[in-house]
Amino acid sequence: MKNGASKATALPDITLDDIGGLPEEMKEEIHQTLSIIKDPKRATQVGIKAPKGILLYGPPGTGKTLLAQAIAHEIGATFYSSSGSAFTELFVGVGASRVRSLFQNARKQRPAVIFIDEVDALAGKRKEHGGEESEKTLTELLVQLDGGNDNEGILFIAATNRKDMLDEAFLRPGRIDYTFNVPLPDTGGRREIIDIHTKGRKLADEVYASLDVLAESTSGFSGAELSSLFETASKRAIRDGREKIGKSDLDFAIDRTILGSTSRALNDM
Ligand code: ATP
Repeated sequence: MKNGASKATALPDITLDDIGGLPEEMKEEIHQTLSIIKDPKRATQVGIKAPKGILLYGPPGTGKTLLAQAIAHEIGATFYSSSGSAFTELFVGVGASRVRSLFQNARKQRPAVIFIDEVDALAGKRKEHGGEESEKTLTELLVQLDGGNDNEGILFIAATNRKDMLDEAFLRPGRIDYTFNVPLPDTGGRREIIDIHTKGRKLADEVYASLDVLAESTSGFSGAELSSLFETASKRAIRDGREKIGKSDLDFAIDRTILGSTSRALNDM
């Protein structure tokens, strides 16, 4: 694939309000970071440098991609999205050249956010990394991140479920300036996420009345799982010709989600 992994992707209309369950201090810090990015001159006057790179880490489906999209949206940036695996298992030199063209393309569209999901596949610890080719690709990433003034207006955001796997050199300040843990939501967080994903859906009164209990009883569910709960329940209601999501639809969706996570866990064993 020529120029793979280097295209701008359409940015959904996502704001920070569309992300539930983020700890208050984290939201505060993100708002501060955004105001520095939006007004770098003022930030320089008070001795703060605009961040070049942000790392988001946490379990799958907690909203890391959503957060990267919301940040790009808030600062009016073009969004370049890719996955660490798009830079691996390639012919000689292709990984490094993809990294280069990703940054080159983004520099033509400033302000731009470059988002790399599963960054551990690209920026894993060198000792444990898969050989010379991966090392070259990682070195190219470090070179591009160090692009000096050439990176003005470029914000790099990386996401991973495996922060412990990342190379120290990649995590150095100046490359990654802020690191945010995006955790599984607590009860209050799940309630917020449920609100977000029931907006615009029709619920039977008894389902509506049970949403607090649902938030309490879904400990361990990620935002992605909560979202898919209502998607599945909606589809079942439509299939059976019901106008509103009923209790049986939601129970069915909960069983499915729990079964799905159990079989995933068994497969991982
Ligand atoms: P992965 O680590 O697997 O890449 P992720 O943390 O990037 O996952 P997202 O891709 O952002 O997770 O989430 C997938 C979908 O799940 C979102 O598009 C959204 O519908 C829902 N979702 C996840 N987290 C949240 C959240 N905190 N608030 C609202 N919706 C969420």
